[in-house]
Amino acid sequence: MLDYHGDFPGVATYEDRTLWMSISPDPWRLLTGGPSTTPSTRSSSEIIDYRKEHLGKNMSISYLHPIHAVRGHGVFLLDDTGRRFLDTVNNVAHVGHEHPRVVAAGQRQMAVLNTNTRYLHDTIVEFVEALLKTMPPSLNVAYVVNSGSEANELALRLARTGTGQQDMIVSEMGYHGNTTGCVAISSYKFDGPGGKGPSKHVHVIPTPDVYRGKYRSPDEKAGINYGSHVRGALKMIKEQGRGPAALIMESVISCGGQVELPAGFLTHAYSDVRNAGGVCIADEVQTGCGRAGDHFWAFAQHGVTPDIVTIGKPIGNGHPLGVVVTTQRLAEAFQNGMEYFNTFGGNPVSCAVGLEVLRVIEEENLRDNARIVGGYLKAGLRELMQDFEILGDVRGPGLFLGIDLVTSRETRQPATRQAAYVVNRMRGKGILMSTDGPFNNVLKIKPPMVFSLEHADFLMGALAQVLKEDFLRVGS
Ligand code: PMP
Repeated sequence: MLDYHGDFPGVATYEDRTLWMSISPDPWRLLTGGPSTTPSTRSSSEIIDYRKEHLGKNMSISYLHPIHAVRGHGVFLLDDTGRRFLDTVNNVAHVGHEHPRVVAAGQRQMAVLNTNTRYLHDTIVEFVEALLKTMPPSLNVAYVVNSGSEANELALRLARTGTGQQDMIVSEMGYHGNTTGCVAISSYKFDGPGGKGPSKHVHVIPTPDVYRGKYRSPDEKAGINYGSHVRGALKMIKEQGRGPAALIMESVISCGGQVELPAGFLTHAYSDVRNAGGVCIADEVQTGCGRAGDHFWAFAQHGVTPDIVTIGKPIGNGHPLGVVVTTQRLAEAFQNGMEYFNTFGGNPVSCAVGLEVLRVIEEENLRDNARIVGGYLKAGLRELMQDFEILGDVRGPGLFLGIDLVTSRETRQPATRQAAYVVNRMRGKGILMSTDGPFNNVLKIKPPMVFSLEHADFLMGALAQVLKEDFLRVGS
């Protein structure tokens, strides 16, 4: 302790870091009881250089000054210099980065057995049983897979086998995954850079966005108006002599800019699709597992019950895990003689992790936390709208919020450059944020669900400071 008594100098320069690290123990283990940070053996620029040459060329890196993350803990990420960042972006670390209970559950199972579903094991049954308790009773058959993309790929097969049809109705700016099948139903990809537009079996409806979309009345009329495009797609499919396989949508459109669906839209859409013989898929990869606050699944906010629900990101808290939940009817139809086998899907380690995530959500009351902290944050951000013209809209349920930045409230012109500026300035203040939407002008907030009122205050305080900067002055 160098003979100090509570008056430690506490600061070394970055240049002296290697020396200090060589002579002093890593305090992380002492403070948290957890394992030490894995020492980084390469500098950020070495990693960037290697990635450029030897990793897939179209992988992106966030921020002007990329973050070299070495540790996650709750709502925080730590970089290689020991700097702490409040994470408002990573909805995969759902119950908190490296939640000790989830880590321990995975480690325990991994030390004992990891096999596939052709052997009997408790974990898959316990996991699925716990998951199905959160679903409407009609959704009671599960397939455990390894990612959101795999879940949607399987959902496509279930829908197409169950209906004997191919055609899909999808939302503009929808994203459902990185496989060939998923890209083909993701307007965000096929209508974006490098995309080739929809195939003849894919029908795109306008984003049901009441702030920036085709119909802007925030009432039931918008739901009916946007719903009429689903009917239009169904009509077109029929005129071409076919029927619909499915409608696939998120209940809050993430890549579209955290767009909340207007009231009544899903009710009308689901009923029309079903009347035409199709099924309805809710992609809950981003919105599920309690994030929406009021409900465990975001579709429930709209009073609808899908035929298929796809789950990913949060359910494994960072471990690759996804699930498809469907009805007995569709599962029976899929049982057509071709075996469904998935080497890793449903393995005991993944199931132990998923089960622990569900337990933590419940025991730490994280859905309530999403509702309370999300509500507080949304109200606070709406208050900020009084001071800052650039804040055009604040929307979203629970801890799934979007702040639409505009250069003019009247024209709702997207403030794209300003949004990028905010993200980088907030990074400078130790807060991780990012943007979404067709114009990349929507700041998205979807932090680990252990985000507290204190974290919300810290975020809003820093944002209010940044918004005062000259570059962000818009309007009069
Ligand atoms: N659906 C949605 C709504 C998503 O946001 C994503 C991933 N961003 C996926 C599916 C695909 O999930 P994954 O990347 O785990 O394959």
